[in-house]
Amino acid sequence: MTKPRVFVTRRIPEAGLNLLQESCDVRVWEDELPPPREALLREAADAEGLLCLLSDRVDAALMDAAPQLKVISNFAVGFDNIDITAATQRGLPVGHTPGVLTETTADLAFALLMAAARRIVEAVHYVQEGRWKTWGPMLMLGQDVHGATLGIIGLGRIGQAVARRGRGFDMRVIYHGGSNEEAARAIGAERRPLDDLLAEADFISLHVPLTPETHHLIDARAFERMKPTAVLVNTARGGVVDSKALYHALKSGQIAYAALDVTDPEPIPPDDPLLTLENCLIVPHIGSATHATRSRIALIAAQNVLAGLHGERLPHCVNPEVYGAQR
Ligand code: NAP
Repeated sequence: MTKPRVFVTRRIPEAGLNLLQESCDVRVWEDELPPPREALLREAADAEGLLCLLSDRVDAALMDAAPQLKVISNFAVGFDNIDITAATQRGLPVGHTPGVLTETTADLAFALLMAAARRIVEAVHYVQEGRWKTWGPMLMLGQDVHGATLGIIGLGRIGQAVARRGRGFDMRVIYHGGSNEEAARAIGAERRPLDDLLAEADFISLHVPLTPETHHLIDARAFERMKPTAVLVNTARGGVVDSKALYHALKSGQIAYAALDVTDPEPIPPDDPLLTLENCLIVPHIGSATHATRSRIALIAAQNVLAGLHGERLPHCVNPEVYGAQR
């Protein structure tokens, strides 16, 4: 019996690859960079399963170029790189990996928050550049985390995990967006309209998915509402923030600091003006980047592929409407 063909768009941890290789004919894109568009189209052409990354654009044209495709499995919880409407119209289930990366991503968000509050990266550069001459009463003054107000935008899985960390550091937590009121109560987070949150929070952490509604949710108008001491942390998606407005807000002192795991575009071009600012800390989309979590993501992504190939409901499906009334 011929094994179903699966195309995996980058080398992923063995936990996932080994599982797929047990029963599938797996092709892996071995490059460090994503497959160029033509390669993606070519490799997907005879694939029954596609395991892709957030850097792969999976649109209607790609789906139509892959007539045997039975399942698309994203190696991420976010799925803004995939045209979900097009997949649903073609009866293609799309898998993602919620839950397993929640705490790891929240750890990174909180690490960014702390680093921004206490200017850790600037301070490291200061020492490395030989500028540390003496203890200074005014040297590298930052902001207290304890006692400050943390504003979470998108109190979902990751937002709640960040809120819990905030509570552990004696922060007051307010939030906007998120329908799980019981979870909010359990954490002790108070709901606010967006404008009130922006004006009240000392630290604003973004945890919404990127959708047409959240695109540039944080724009010039939003920055106008924030405190001049505000710190913005983005571990959601770059497109949630208008980066030109962010540059202006940081440069003009409208807000104090930004710490970003995600940018728009990604990777951020080396000549992007944000990279010239001392009060902007940027890391390369490493929210879920721990050995254990990336292995768990790989396993779930592989399980989603296998379920799709067997015609079973995906363990984590973005578009369950593909299953229709029978489910
Ligand atoms: P989630 O549990 O679905 O949480 C998203 C939250 O955003 C939900 O509470 C949702 O409200 C809320 N929301 C949706 N649209 C909104 C809007 N227009 N305005 C305000 N709130 C809105 O997802 P998650 O697992 O926490 O992940 C969140 C996002 O983080 C992902 O979509 C992904 O883009 C990003 N992420 C990044 C990394 C990284 O490496 N940096 C890692 C993992 C995830 P409801 O409760 O009403 O649905």
